Amino acid sequence: MPFNDLRFSKSKTMKFNTKTIHGGQEDDPAYGSVMPPIYQTSTYAQSTPGGHKGYEYSRTHNPTRNALENAFASIENGNHGLAFGSGLAAIDAVIKLLQLGDEVISTNDLYGGSYRLFTSIFKKFGIIFHFIGMENASNIENYINENTKLIWVETPTNPMMNIIDVKATASIAKKHNILLAVDNTFATPYLQRPLDLGADIVMHSATKYLGGHSDLVMGALIVKDKDLADRLYFIQNASGAVCGPQDSFLALRGIKTLHIRMQRHCENGKAVAEFLASHPKIEKVYWPGFESHPNHDIAKEQMTDFGGMVSFTTNGNNYEEAIKIIEGLKIFTLAESLGGVESLAGHPASMTHASIPKEEREKTGVVDSLIRLSVGIEDEDDLIADLKQAIDD
Ligand SMILES: *Cc1c(COP(=O)(O)O)cnc(C)c1O
Repeated sequence: MPFNDLRFSKSKTMKFNTKTIHGGQEDDPAYGSVMPPIYQTSTYAQSTPGGHKGYEYSRTHNPTRNALENAFASIENGNHGLAFGSGLAAIDAVIKLLQLGDEVISTNDLYGGSYRLFTSIFKKFGIIFHFIGMENASNIENYINENTKLIWVETPTNPMMNIIDVKATASIAKKHNILLAVDNTFATPYLQRPLDLGADIVMHSATKYLGGHSDLVMGALIVKDKDLADRLYFIQNASGAVCGPQDSFLALRGIKTLHIRMQRHCENGKAVAEFLASHPKIEKVYWPGFESHPNHDIAKEQMTDFGGMVSFTTNGNNYEEAIKIIEGLKIFTLAESLGGVESLAGHPASMTHASIPKEEREKTGVVDSLIRLSVGIEDEDDLIADLKQAIDD
């Protein structure tokens, strides 16, 4: 396959901050345009049956999407990238590697839509899911049997900011010959590169930090292994949940500033987390940069910084107080999603995690007063003043 194979690319040796701009990219062969053109076409002319230039039909291949897929592969230090119409479509493709009777071990604190896909769609096709705490990686071994085919990890988890040791999980997966997939949406490759830590598959909701501007919905998978890539390409083409060329272009443009956006997200995230922790009306603040965070040491080892996602609860888990804060925010917008340049606030229990039963979500800490912030890249002083007025009001 001529596409999406970065094994021999010159971008292998680039540093991360260069890869975001040039990784996997080639000059446009038609007119040398510096930015990849938007090939808004479904089909490609053939000179004779089978006589094409590598492109036949855009579900299978599209030059703009291929440029993006190469960028995905490059920034995650993978060899092969695949782009999908949403993060969930990317996860859907991974689970389609499995068959009836196969078992999956997943983190218990995970994106609500992933939980819904696993339990409401794939369970009825006979795939068995175990949702477990993985903060202590050795717990995973208790759930492994001969049918276990996949370990699904989110780290930091959503919205509790638990940290899972990817290296330790990868060594358990290798020992038992199980695939390890990591949802790297929260961290992005700026903060952590799961393939380098031993994972087999990295997944992204590129809707979030990779796109970075809250203007598209998209998913990504990145792998190193050629056979695994071929199996996923087969599913991508056969199931057809691809993204269009216009969105591929927007995501490529987003990735070019990923490193500088992430740097600011991390700075602002730290300032916001520290402000909240010092406020008497706030009970708990979840952010992996605190030394008191239970897996701070692992976060420090596997991540280069701690990101822009911060969750917190009000004193006495006061629901009315939490709603008052959310409604009083003026710069933070109350909205689903995360990872854009603008700051967002969310209420997981009624929004992103409403599809998880109350008893299940409260077991993992998603209580009624929990607020999740996606700290944007605005001025730090304005963000803190906004939180202060909403909390003190
Ligand atoms: C948003 C999100 C998803 C789902 O991605 P979509 O692009 O919304 O389909 C999966 N995992 C995490 C961690 C997310 O935040």
